[in-house]
Amino acid sequence: MGSFPQTEEIIFRSTLPDIEIRNDQPLHTYCFEHMADFADRPCIIDGATGEVHTYADVHLSARRVAAGLHRLGIGQGHVIMILLRNSPEFVLAFLGASFRGAVATTANPFYTPAEIHKQATASGARLIVTESAHVDKVRAFAGERGITIVCVDGPPQGCHHFSELLQSNESDLPDVEIDSDDVVALPYSSGTTGLPKGVMLTHRGLITSVAQQVDGDNPNLYFHKEDVVLCVLPLFHIYSLNSVLLCALRVGAAILIMRKFDVVAMLELVQRFRVSIAPFVPPIVVEIAKNPIVDSYDLSSIRTVMSGAAPMGKDLEDKLRAKIPNAKLGQGYGMTEAGPVLSMNLAFAKEPSETKSGACGTVVRNAELKIVDPETGASLGRNQPGEICIRGAQIMKGYINDPEATKNTIDKEGWLHTGDIGYVDDDDEIFIVDRLKEIIKYKGFQVAPAELEALLIAHPNIVEAAVVPMKDELAGEVPVAFVVPKDGSKITEDEIKQYISKQVVFYKRINRVFFTEAIPKAPSGKILRKDLRAKLAAGLPDV
Ligand code: AMP
Repeated sequence: MGSFPQTEEIIFRSTLPDIEIRNDQPLHTYCFEHMADFADRPCIIDGATGEVHTYADVHLSARRVAAGLHRLGIGQGHVIMILLRNSPEFVLAFLGASFRGAVATTANPFYTPAEIHKQATASGARLIVTESAHVDKVRAFAGERGITIVCVDGPPQGCHHFSELLQSNESDLPDVEIDSDDVVALPYSSGTTGLPKGVMLTHRGLITSVAQQVDGDNPNLYFHKEDVVLCVLPLFHIYSLNSVLLCALRVGAAILIMRKFDVVAMLELVQRFRVSIAPFVPPIVVEIAKNPIVDSYDLSSIRTVMSGAAPMGKDLEDKLRAKIPNAKLGQGYGMTEAGPVLSMNLAFAKEPSETKSGACGTVVRNAELKIVDPETGASLGRNQPGEICIRGAQIMKGYINDPEATKNTIDKEGWLHTGDIGYVDDDDEIFIVDRLKEIIKYKGFQVAPAELEALLIAHPNIVEAAVVPMKDELAGEVPVAFVVPKDGSKITEDEIKQYISKQVVFYKRINRVFFTEAIPKAPSGKILRKDLRAKLAAGLPDV
């Protein structure tokens, strides 16, 4: 990329004016900048226990955790892995890492040992914060590599307890000089191609992204200090970490933490704590739209429902509006590498709400967006679909230890190529219509085909394999595999499915296996995924 001839560029910007963003400071300083206004207000409400932690409590505890991390040998620039469900400890571990000048790599606690091992090794994690239920998955390699384990419960033998960190004295935290271009978060994403890679998000990048959403003279854009924000989406995903946690901290809102999604528990909490902001993903919206139990709860406190991470069609939007008529509903569009928010719905700031169905908002402030023809690289005007590209201080610094992948994603002019196909309409609203990249999205979770393909071809009875998304009503998409078996092999679909299931988290499981004689490939050897997707779209593949 970057080698296309320069043509006149058509750049789309927010309809709101740019704002001044003080992004040359540490993320935690920025998040707690206005804390004096809300020090005694609730910051975290633990949905499991009802326990409330004020802003002052969270600020102090996070510094203590930072001092405790220091005591356990975590220095500036060191990586800790947060392998937790949503919990107050997750928030404190993340903020503690920031105060320490360290880096937090977040991972799904339900990953298999192999998946965790891969990320922990690739990121160079020196300490893992987890729950006792997951300790056995990390113990062996942690022992071999000298990785410290901190447990939020138990603790099992050989692990530290999180309370040890909380009991540290914050005055033991050494002074740290944080450069705003230092990395603070390292989520993993496969981006447009290949295996999951560590996405380096800096203090500057995350501050910029949060500011684009909640700062400036237009505070109603997203949320404010009187809000109670539901935090049910997993914090290990950047959508929740940034657009729920960090945005809420910045404005002083209360964050109602749920460890996992359970519709009844969620409705009870919404009613009890008068939740006003509900950030969702389409599968949760489906549950609310379809489950009759929803009608027995008072959801009138919800003023904004936000959906992102995967597409939401008009039908679903309409059903949700019927269930929560008082709420403004809007989609946001994010990608981990983009920091993550590219666009959000300005309807939140408008009275009355005017949202176009299927639109995922307009580009955020202090950023530039363009649509390029994937073949020629020429930038396209309104209503013409092409690859969505974004530029601004919020995007990732790059992939960790992978300059090649970084170069293929961020071009020389600083444009991040998303691999999403979309267009900007006459009212600056963005519509995503297709995906150029390989990634599969199961209920908003990423599945990297390359990861599953590598596992498949490692099987002695499989010669070649390709994994592509198949549409699914509930999950949005599910991974399916085209497999060339070894000559004479009697391997079955079930055997292949089980072989994969043992090695991956539930949403990466292969839903269908289609045996075939050859995988269509370009002369370069690249799998022609489009051909396989077309076969699926045309009905049962003719293989
Ligand atoms: P992730 O990095 O896991 O956040 O995944 C990013 C990808 O999810 C994007 O590049 C899109 O392909 C998809 N995505 C995110 N938000 C939306 C949305 N509102 N509508 C359609 N696709 C979306």
